[in-house]
Amino acid sequence: MSTEDTFSCPKCHAGMLHLTELTYFARLGDELLVVPKFPAWTCDICGYVEYDEQALAWLYTLLSPSMQHREKPSASRGAAQPSAKE
Ligand SMILES: [Zn+2]
Repeated sequence: MSTEDTFSCPKCHAGMLHLTELTYFARLGDELLVVPKFPAWTCDICGYVEYDEQALAWLYTLLSPSMQHREKPSASRGAAQPSAKE
């Protein structure tokens, strides 16, 4: 049972998608996110590129906590500590 890591191209239906590594660019608000060596599927005939869905999901899972203000509502220890500058 040997499955090759190739899929037929959804665009030209003639080529095969091969797993390659590209630099992924995404805009996050005012920031430009650049991820080198990001897994992507590239058609060997028409050049269609599709970023790997699992890698994208992983990437945005990593990004999502940092894009929000992380507050800990249950962390009530050190209540007497003033919120002054360090
Ligand atoms: Zn193609």
